[in-house]
Amino acid sequence: MFKRCRVVLQKALKDEVRGPNSSYSNMLKDPSTKYSGFQAIYLTDRTWPNNHIKKAPRWLATDLRDGNQSLPDPMSIEQKQEYFKKLVQIGLKEIEVSFPSASQTDFDFTRWAVKNAPEDVDIQVLVQSRERLIRRTIDSLEGAKRAIVHTYLATSDLFRNVVFGMSRKEALEKAVRTAKFVRSLTKDDASQQRTNWTYEFSPECFSSTPTEFAVDICRAVKDAWEPTLENPIIFNLPATIEVSTPNVYADQIEYFCRHIGDRDRVVVSLHCHNDRGCGVAATELGLLAGGDRIEGCLFGNGERTGNVDLVTLALNLYTTGISPDLDFSDMKSIIDVAERCNKIPVHPRAPYGGSLVTCAFSGSHQDAIKKGFTAQEKRRTEGDNSWQIPYLTLDPQDIGRNYEAVIRVNSQSGKGGAAWIVQRNLGLDLPKPMQIDFSSIVQDTADGLGRELKANEIISLLQSHYNVDNCANNSIAVKDYNFHKISEQSTHLDAIIDFDGTEIAIHGEGNGPISSFLNALSKALGIEMEVETYAEHSVGQGSKTKAATYVKLSCNGVTRWGIGMHESITRASVNSLVSCANSLIKARALSEDSVKTEDGFAETIEKKVKAKF
Ligand SMILES: [Zn+2]
Repeated sequence: MFKRCRVVLQKALKDEVRGPNSSYSNMLKDPSTKYSGFQAIYLTDRTWPNNHIKKAPRWLATDLRDGNQSLPDPMSIEQKQEYFKKLVQIGLKEIEVSFPSASQTDFDFTRWAVKNAPEDVDIQVLVQSRERLIRRTIDSLEGAKRAIVHTYLATSDLFRNVVFGMSRKEALEKAVRTAKFVRSLTKDDASQQRTNWTYEFSPECFSSTPTEFAVDICRAVKDAWEPTLENPIIFNLPATIEVSTPNVYADQIEYFCRHIGDRDRVVVSLHCHNDRGCGVAATELGLLAGGDRIEGCLFGNGERTGNVDLVTLALNLYTTGISPDLDFSDMKSIIDVAERCNKIPVHPRAPYGGSLVTCAFSGSHQDAIKKGFTAQEKRRTEGDNSWQIPYLTLDPQDIGRNYEAVIRVNSQSGKGGAAWIVQRNLGLDLPKPMQIDFSSIVQDTADGLGRELKANEIISLLQSHYNVDNCANNSIAVKDYNFHKISEQSTHLDAIIDFDGTEIAIHGEGNGPISSFLNALSKALGIEMEVETYAEHSVGQGSKTKAATYVKLSCNGVTRWGIGMHESITRASVNSLVSCANSLIKARALSEDSVKTEDGFAETIEKKVKAKF
């Protein structure tokens, strides 16, 4: 009976993990019968693996075209305007704004962009290789200072044969005809000389086109356009659908760069999508292989899994010491615009921009980061400004984030996390054993609440737990005190303390302020308190400097920590002793006959105190 129950229970558990009806039947045991993979060109003498990226590429943002096309709810003209202005602010000099022949909204927005773009910004527009649509597109650019006309044509075998039914020869002839037609309406037209015209051609989809054919068709287009050194032609080589590992794309780019000819009159542009999740990697390897320019979107918006993420690419360069020539100092406002206009949230784990990427919750990470900041502050005083913080590749301040957000505290955080918050907010550098003491309080509280603790919650937890600054429910408060230095070895203390509402005069002797005050308290309360640890440091600078003192007292085998802060170091010490004594009272540690209730305990102490004076 028991055995059967156990079998049933085990099956139920398995079903819970796997789902009751799962038979693993959808995915094939041998996927090669269904998916063959793309056989691309493989260079045997590739040079790109030995190259390094040494400077920023040219950037084109296609958020308003490729990105916008992919939105469930496309941007309004006002949203496009706001987005365009933000792209200009970031420093984009080439912006693909629309598909003007596709809709009146896109045509109208192009007109707005032509009138409002700064003089050094190229307006790029996309158009199919059809004459009527090209005319309408050129009309939309009337009066532009700088314009890039971007045409595309299906060149991959799948799209050419299945979607468009065109032979390679027909595709090549069409691409040449289109280039010549655009040329006749732009740079060859005397009435169009106010505009600096650039031509861009995309063989679609380059990554699944036989690379030799992509080179053939682009060479023919180049001959038709006749680019110059001053105004090169752009060949945009899209991984419209990412079909291979990034090294294959890099081989294709290197092959293209070697064979296109007139290399100094050609800009090789990389346009990667992220179908396999490797868009950034493919683009970076494409740069090593000879790419000059990158097309992408902020935070990787775009068709399906998105276009390559410009933020990641740019900040990857930045964190290796290369200026991307793009400015992400105000990351928050950039995220605001992208989220508002795209109506898609930026993922909290998105590289650089995500809200959680500069936060550490785990104890060991927090400890390492805290130590890293301490070491860095020391290096800075020696004139070394290099950034070397464990786990943080980028200084959060560079993108407008503060250090407070770096370390956040939940039940998984160790001593370093809470200590960091205390240090940043109060300037208190808690001694290590005290950090451990405090962190257990923090962890218990976070665990109890089942959530992260905010900085202000951690501060008030510290203040109440260590009775800092005469917080409520304390038994002892110091009203007045006077130290008399009798000799080098002897100090006397006279003080008035408030003990649960009764004022009491106390007297003590010792070899300094701490020992004489402790002696006075011990005598008054009729118990023996001993200092186990004492530490102090200054907080702040100049006239606002304060002293912070930490003391650990033991009494009847119970120990407690106390904190004191004051402009005067002596008063800070007194405060820490009082803070600690109050903790010991709360811990019922002051008397062997300390009784169970607070009132009873106070009475016992009061009797003893009264008996003494
Ligand atoms: Zn695309």
